Amino acid sequence: MKMKLSEVARVVGSDCPLAEADCPTITGVAFDSRQLHPGDLFVPLQGERDGHEFLAAAAEHGAAATFIAAAKAPIATAIPQLVVDDPLQALQKLAQYYLMMKVNPKVVAITGSNGKTTTKDMAAAVLATQYHVVKTPENFNNEIGVPFTILSMDTNTEVLVVEMGMDRPGQLTALSHLAEPDVVVITMIGEAHIEFFKTRDKIADAKMEIVSGLKEDGLFVYNGDEPLLRQRATAVTQDQKTFGLDPENNLYARHIQAFEDHTEFDLSRWPDLHFSIPVMGEYNVTNALAAILVGRRFHVKPEAIQHALADFQITANRTQWLTGDAGEAILSDVYNANPTAMKAVLHDFAEFPCSGRRIAVLGDMLELGAASAELHASVATALDPTRIPEVYLYGDEISSLADTLAAKYPAAAVHYFPKGQQQALINALQADVSYQDMVVLKASHGLHLENVLQALLDGD
Ligand code: ATP
Ligand code: MG
Repeated sequence: MKMKLSEVARVVGSDCPLAEADCPTITGVAFDSRQLHPGDLFVPLQGERDGHEFLAAAAEHGAAATFIAAAKAPIATAIPQLVVDDPLQALQKLAQYYLMMKVNPKVVAITGSNGKTTTKDMAAAVLATQYHVVKTPENFNNEIGVPFTILSMDTNTEVLVVEMGMDRPGQLTALSHLAEPDVVVITMIGEAHIEFFKTRDKIADAKMEIVSGLKEDGLFVYNGDEPLLRQRATAVTQDQKTFGLDPENNLYARHIQAFEDHTEFDLSRWPDLHFSIPVMGEYNVTNALAAILVGRRFHVKPEAIQHALADFQITANRTQWLTGDAGEAILSDVYNANPTAMKAVLHDFAEFPCSGRRIAVLGDMLELGAASAELHASVATALDPTRIPEVYLYGDEISSLADTLAAKYPAAAVHYFPKGQQQALINALQADVSYQDMVVLKASHGLHLENVLQALLDGD
């Protein structure tokens, strides 16, 4: 971005402390003094610590100016300051002004319980074949990340692809009105944050808020395999397109072939084009379908979409193939887990060719609230002893899955370790795994399965 401090002051409704001629040009925003670039406007936010404690550090790193919350003023600073009621709201106001008055790109906003970042990366890759595209960096998808993303755009940006996350009602309404998207996408409804929301219905309601800021002539793209979305979509007045695996959808995939490192599929729509995406998992096909619908809305040609998807760059591939010390193939996915994602990964894992045994090592999925025992037990539907003959379970919440598996697995094939017995789990696995085996590791990050992974890699 490039804006005079006086213009910033006008937009956020603050007094500019300098005469017009003396005003510096603001070239970016930062809320972490360590990541500040010279010329940035510093935005002190309340995190674990109060951002106002870092004003001196921000000035030292070259901040051109800073916001100050009115409640904290006066604070003496070495750099010009704009006193505002609330620095976060001022940041959002500035972002909205910059988006609409300075750049005015088309906006694609993406939400969903899982698959937001992947779909964002895929849609951006597809659109980049024809447009100058800016996308959410990494996973900056909240009320701070979205304005930050907007303000990181250069003025010739044609399409902004922005990820929007939420963990409470009202959040997506605010983000959607901030960005007023031309296209909104809901990838799927899962159980993330069900501890707070209690039911999937309520999660669906909260996700639907993303439609509230959609432009009148905009497009609503959603996963039509999800009845909760289909029901709610009937109340949406804008154009709609659905994707999924069901032939009822506007765009659906068929002949899906899952490989360890990529996935292939066809579309009924263009039967001559064969698609391949460089990521594992059938679930990623639905993410790709969403990206294809976005691309078509902006007239990207089918062949260009096919090429873009074939080698798109994923922001953070949380699933990783590694080779253990015994020579076993390890599919590591130890950084987050929820029931839908766990079942999705097991579904694919069960199909990969394997000359030894497929072994699942699963840990607790956290933040599932009152439904936790039931949701952990529900993973049993994705475990079939003829495909995945050995199961290791680790944690307290997942004991309900151990109980449920007793009905379909031989007792000796299900190994349960309560929390605190990670070393026993490691010892048992190391004694069991051999070079032809294939092992999947998945749990919430709080379970620290990365220690188990490391032990399998190191062999000690
Ligand atoms: P976050 O809420 O952390 O930002 P996200 O919605 O951006 O997550 P991604 O980073 O794209 O999601 O994917 C995270 C994990 O979710 C994947 O590794 C996979 O296990 C699972 N996942 C991705 N897409 C889907 C999908 N469409 N359906 C079910 N699970 C999915
Ligand atoms: Mg994400």
